Formats: sequence, C-alpha cells, structure tokens
Amino acid sequence: MTNEYRTDATFAQEMDQTDPLASYREKFSIPKTKEDKDCVYFCGNSLGLKPKAVNAALMQELDDWGNMAVEAHFRGKNPWRDYHEFVTKQMAHIVGAKQIEVVMMNSLSVNLHLMMVSFYRPTKDRYKILIEGNAFPSDRYAVESQIKFHGFDPLKSLVEISPREGERTLRTEDIESLIAEQGNEISLIMIGGVNYYTGQLFAMERITKAGHEKGCLVGFDLAHAAGNAALSLHDWDVDFACWCSYKYLNSGPGSLSGCFVHERHAHDSDLPRFAGWWGHDKETRFQMEPHFKPIPGAEGWQISNPPVLSLAAIKASLDIFEEAGMEMLHNKSVALTGYLEFLLDNLNSDDFTIMTPRAADERGCQISIVLAEGGKNVFEALQAGGVVCDWREPDCIRLAPTPLYNSFTDVYKFVQIFAAQIGQSEQLSEAG
Ligand SMILES: *Cc1c(COP(=O)(O)O)cnc(C)c1O
Repeated sequence: MTNEYRTDATFAQEMDQTDPLASYREKFSIPKTKEDKDCVYFCGNSLGLKPKAVNAALMQELDDWGNMAVEAHFRGKNPWRDYHEFVTKQMAHIVGAKQIEVVMMNSLSVNLHLMMVSFYRPTKDRYKILIEGNAFPSDRYAVESQIKFHGFDPLKSLVEISPREGERTLRTEDIESLIAEQGNEISLIMIGGVNYYTGQLFAMERITKAGHEKGCLVGFDLAHAAGNAALSLHDWDVDFACWCSYKYLNSGPGSLSGCFVHERHAHDSDLPRFAGWWGHDKETRFQMEPHFKPIPGAEGWQISNPPVLSLAAIKASLDIFEEAGMEMLHNKSVALTGYLEFLLDNLNSDDFTIMTPRAADERGCQISIVLAEGGKNVFEALQAGGVVCDWREPDCIRLAPTPLYNSFTDVYKFVQIFAAQIGQSEQLSEAG
C-alpha cells in the first residue's frame, strides 16, 4: 500500500469514495468544533464515539423498567436475567474465542484482580509476575498489590521488562529470552496486548508459547487491543485476558469489561476464585442453595448481576462491529494508519519522531509521536484546530484513527493542521 499513497488532498477524497466502510461514520455522533464542524476525533483509544443506536437501545430498557419493573427480568423484550448472554457471541468473535470462554462483567481493573485470584498462585519457588516496563499504571498497581497480598516482596517478585538502551519498544526475542532465563520462577506473565503508550502490539502467541514452555500462566490486558487488533485468544492458547469496552469497542464511559478464560480451565472448579451468585449454576441459582457450583467457563467468574444499561450500549455497539466485519475493519485500519504514517514521514521534520513500530503486524491503529521541545504547545494548537487526540507527559501525542468512524480526509486534515504547527505546511500543499 505504502507506495500507492499520495500527498495531495484529492487522494484522501478518492480513498473515502471507494471505502466500503465509509457509511459507518454516519452511525456515530461526532463531536463538533466551535464552528460546528466535525472534530477530527483521534481519541478512540481513550473513549470511543457513541453509536447513535445506543439511545434507542437504552430507551428500550428504560421503558421495560418503567412498564414492567421486576417482571422485565423474565418478560422484558430482552429479558434482563439473560442479558449478558446476548453479547457473548459477538464479543467472542472479536477476540477470537469460543463462547464458553467469554463473559462481560465488572470493569477492567476489577477483572484483572479476579483473574489473578485464580491464576496468580505464588509458591516459594515460583512467585514472580512479569509485566512490560511501561505498563498502564492500574495494571502495575493491581499486580503489585496482588504480590503483597500473598505476602511476597514486589522488589523481588515484580519483573518489568524494558526496551534496550536507546529503543522505545520491546523486542519479542528479548521477552522470550527473559522468560527462558527466569521462567522457572515466574508464576504469571501479564502484558498489555497493545501497549497504551507506544502503541506496540505484542506477539501474544509467541509470548504465550514461551511462557507455557516454562510452566508459567499467561494473561493479557487487551484494553487497547480489543476491537483494534486481530486476536485469536483461543488458538494462541492464552490462559486469560481482560479488556474494557469503552475504548475501541465504543460502549460508553465506564462500560463493562470483557473477560476471557481459556476453555481448558472451564471445568476446573478447584481453581480458587472469588465467588458470587451470578457465577452459580443457572439451573439452581434461584433455589438459593448455600453451596457454590460454578457455571462452566468464563461465566462462572461472575459475581454480581450485571448493569443492563451498560450491556444495552455494548449490544448496540457490537451489532455495528458484526455488520462491518472484523476483517474489513482490519484492512481499513492498516490502510488508514499507514496513510497517517506516510503523511507524517513526508513532512520530513526533525521536530518529531514516531515511536510506534513501523510494521503493520506490530501495531494497531494507534501512532504515538514524540515531540521535540515545546511539544505541549503543538498539542494545544491541535486542540484549538479541532483535533481531539491526547497528550502524555512529557512529550508524547497519541493518535488513533479508527476504521469505523474515521476517514482518510480526517487523517489529511490532521496532518495539515499539525504541519502548520511545526512549520512544514508546504510539504502538503501540492494538490491540496
Ligand atoms: C484503559 C486501561 C485501564 C482502565 O482500567 P479501568 O478499570 O477500566 O478503569 C486499565 N489498563 C489498561 C492497560 C488500560 O489501557
């Protein structure tokens, strides 16, 4: 694709005209600028845009609540008792899982803890957790507190792998060799599928294999991967994974988290877990017996009955994913992010560098750029120009053109505004 990109504005228009997914933008509410124009929204890695269909989906449940109250658990249009099951198939498809392996419940950091209750069981000889060096803070806090909870010392038990001197991202072979060296002492490997900061997509299959060879359990935080990268959690043999639904999955602020537990753990009722009634065998749940009998599979990790309004938003959003198709989304994503990279490279500027890996199979749609001095001013000018992206101290701007609602014209507009800020605007003016 790269050698087919062009720098003129007509190119973006041509791409949008022939984009089979172009009409999906219409299904989302796009925030407006002060001048009432569409913002260039590149922040789907933080909060995905609202599908317009969410309003009706929520209204349906509010009406059922109003008209039927408690009866809606059984007689509602979408009976609430079973509501979490209505999203399982679509969610499983997005992460490459079997239905028995997936459930939507709680929020992400909570699910990380619940998974560690089952899959981090340190012993005197095997007590370490391996995470990536610049992990999302919540993940690091969670891991450190789990280590302490078991009476171990984070200084000895928490292993953080960092990039080589002078590099920004990790090399898979370095992760593999660390696992080969220390694997006998590692209880759990828990890495972000896509690092939130650098945008690096990790080789999850290879990491899982390396971990299993050494007897470690392997889980991933897919906050930035679910709905973004191509995933095959079942085939990769991952033990567990968790992700939020409000980033690329567009399901609304604080919406429920997804959780994957590999089928091979589905019937293991001896695994330690924190139990609650919603994880109890469905046939006998309402007999209110004292003895806990887990539902086989991921559903057996549920604790509480889930918030239906959140599930309704998730359902409305996943319907769009299903209709668009993950393969089509992936193809557009590669083309769109490649186009952003191409235009940025074409600015030929020393004022910034791209820290995200260059290979399409080592990233999702996010490109993180590092700015030279005065970067914060550039970021503020972008905001003033109608771009929504985010700033990470001390010098990073994260950009996430998503294939569902972003266009090639969005990318072009962004680079135009950005180029003007770093004094390279002439690079883009050829035919634009
Ligand atoms: C967004 C994100 C979180 C957020 O956690 P919540 O529990 O949903 O607040 C956690 N971990 C990672 C890696 C994230 O990107």
